[in-house]
Amino acid sequence: MNNPPNPYRLARSVVPSAYRIFITPDLDAATFAGRVEIDIDVHDATTRVTVNSLILDLGAASITTASTSYRSVDTLFDTTYETATFVFERTLPVGPAVLEVAFTGVLNDLLVGFYRSTFVDAQGTTHTIATTQFENSDARRAFPCWDEPSFKATYQVNLTIPSHLAAYSNSPVVSNVDLGNGQRTLSFATTMVMSTYLVAFIVGAFEETAERVVDGVPIRIVYPIGKGHLTEVALDASAFALHFFNEYFDIPYPGEKLDMVAIPDFAFGAMENLGCVTYRESALLVDPATASLAEIQRTATVIAHEIAHMWFGDLVTMAWWEGIWLNEAFATFMEVLCTDAYRPAWKMWVSFGVDRDAALQVDGLHATRPIEFEVISPDDMRGMFDVLTYEKGGSVLRMLEQYIGAEVYRDGIRHYLRRHSYANTMTTDLWDALEEVSGHPVREMMDTWILQGGHPLVTLEDGALRQEPFSYGTAHGESAIGSSWLVPVHIRELGSSTTTKYLLGTEPIGVGREKALVVNAGGVGTYRSRYAPTDLAKITPHLDELDELERATLVADSWAMLFAGRLRWSDFLESARGLGDHDEPTPWGTLATAFDFAHRALRDDQRGGLVELVREVFGPQFDRLGWDARATDGELTPQMRSIVIGTLGTIGADKSIQDEAVNRFEIDEMDGNLARAIMRIAAGQNRPGTYESFLDRYRHAPTPQDEQRYQRGLADFNDVTNALDTAQRCFSEFRNQDAPIVLGSLMRNAVVGPRVWTYVSERWDEALAHFPPSMYSTLTLGVPTFITDPEFAERVTAFHGAHQLTSEQRTVDQQIERMHVGLTFTAAMRQQF
Ligand SMILES: [Zn+2]
Repeated sequence: MNNPPNPYRLARSVVPSAYRIFITPDLDAATFAGRVEIDIDVHDATTRVTVNSLILDLGAASITTASTSYRSVDTLFDTTYETATFVFERTLPVGPAVLEVAFTGVLNDLLVGFYRSTFVDAQGTTHTIATTQFENSDARRAFPCWDEPSFKATYQVNLTIPSHLAAYSNSPVVSNVDLGNGQRTLSFATTMVMSTYLVAFIVGAFEETAERVVDGVPIRIVYPIGKGHLTEVALDASAFALHFFNEYFDIPYPGEKLDMVAIPDFAFGAMENLGCVTYRESALLVDPATASLAEIQRTATVIAHEIAHMWFGDLVTMAWWEGIWLNEAFATFMEVLCTDAYRPAWKMWVSFGVDRDAALQVDGLHATRPIEFEVISPDDMRGMFDVLTYEKGGSVLRMLEQYIGAEVYRDGIRHYLRRHSYANTMTTDLWDALEEVSGHPVREMMDTWILQGGHPLVTLEDGALRQEPFSYGTAHGESAIGSSWLVPVHIRELGSSTTTKYLLGTEPIGVGREKALVVNAGGVGTYRSRYAPTDLAKITPHLDELDELERATLVADSWAMLFAGRLRWSDFLESARGLGDHDEPTPWGTLATAFDFAHRALRDDQRGGLVELVREVFGPQFDRLGWDARATDGELTPQMRSIVIGTLGTIGADKSIQDEAVNRFEIDEMDGNLARAIMRIAAGQNRPGTYESFLDRYRHAPTPQDEQRYQRGLADFNDVTNALDTAQRCFSEFRNQDAPIVLGSLMRNAVVGPRVWTYVSERWDEALAHFPPSMYSTLTLGVPTFITDPEFAERVTAFHGAHQLTSEQRTVDQQIERMHVGLTFTAAMRQQF
């Protein structure tokens, strides 16, 4: 490799192999003191040793070899590259040595590094927790280290804590020493060789479930005191996932134990620290009696995702951060595969169609990006944590798996993990492993999906398949959308279960003129498909004969074509009418979204016609399903019912449904699956006292899901005073982990959204100082819904052009482009009604 050296990366002249970390947090003062001993190998004789360190106060470093001790005489800090360089007077010789440094730091409130989290228990007592979040590059905020994934080492953690508190780290406790002064020191076993971003230590008022042992590995759910009754779903899903992956990968789980820890303040969904996975509370702790199916599914999928990472990410790790997409895409693919095996009735691959569609909605914009791109700085890499990495990446892997065959794919993964255990890899290592076992041109094919943005539109016309790039509009300036792909297209003749696989390149492929053919059979392709009118006419009367994901994909593709201005509303409606009486939340959810956008787009005087249509399409489904659970309900019927009621009670303006929803809200009798729909309808009625009761129920919520529902529900009030009150609470009352999401949701509100955007733009600098950097683009989540006022859209565009984010600007650019596509959609819809 002859690349110029990346200044953000450390030289390999000195390499660590083992860390012994000693930390004493002071929870009341929100500070910590520490010391680290690092076994190092000096490869080149030097007078300087550079480590990563950020906002720590460092003492002098000492280095001890077999014969001599050295003490640093100066420390040079570089705040751009986040390093500290220890300068020695005498040259350190080549060979093994031990580096020792003492340090102090502050427990911050930004949810990165070693940070502070707080909670109030059932008795009203406030507790402080100290916990870690190191991915991607924040271990350097907790202890000086070689903070890059390729510097793998072992870690032995020692925590000195108040005796009445609990502490957790990656490994089991090996000693517990009472210091006699109200403190004790817990020492944890040495970890396997791994990257710094996977180290974790947590101190606070926690309890844990009894161990459940799976294949010899003890699993526990760890939670803030008093929440033990919310752990059963997580324990069961964890036990299933651990065994599933032991078998799938055919390599034993690489850690010694597996703790799943719920943290009250947490920026992401979860973090795959080896053996000590941390979660946002709502992603782990759930009451199955009151939660919705979607909430229970979320716990199961997040757990499966994190446990998959124990192998793919923790055991085998990307060499540098451009590989993070594969880490996350693979875990996303695996979370669906595992959860689908856990509960087949949930039809996880069908609902994954929704996630894939969310990714394609971004990927059809000219401001998209290739899945993999060169990463220089940690800031560059932060921009990788988006739908293109997780959902498009996961979808591309699913497409590959289905093309080469599930067993061949699994064998290739096993081969790859075995070959690279405890080491680091490049993306191409995986393609090579899959190519070896499958004999397919995996690398050539995947390069077309990974190294360019966008995805194709595959058309069946005159008996032939061809592809072109899909986009929502014409490019003004540069476009990241590629020109052609190697597309695995699965074709099935209607009425037959046999699928024929083609690899479509730039030349059209003949597939037969007479038959009724389903393009994207099985619905696993990461592309849009379109039929020429004669081919479409052959299958529309038989939508019933498609499988569920095929039907869902057809509706999603039609909605995309409508939004792109390539299909008329009346033609879109035709495919909607063919859905029939199936309890299928995925296509019906897409339909509800399309109607919602149409409702936003139309002028007041045009909306009457749309309301009629909403009732015509959704009304018969309500007549069929009613309000309450029935003996004939399938597993997914409650989700279907919620979509139907939510749509009729809001844009359908159905008075009797609105009255019943308000009634159920007021007496607080809401089935978990219907709660969000009922709350949305009730909030939309703007009755006196409803807003206050949302706030009150949020503050006294018995479960994390209830808390989240009422808090997010505050964004559904169509009243500016309430909206601004909620927005203000995002800067004062709500947790930093939630506030940006609430602000983004408020912006999506069709009535108050623009006013809330103005409010946030007025407090922009304050928002950036206040909220975690990983959530900045969440603040602009609602921008794509500003689709009716071109003048306002120009203000939004100008503001974000002048206030660029350092690491997530691409996401903001995508939101702005989608807003402009929406303006065109609005104009087109107004002409068609
Ligand atoms: Zn992940």
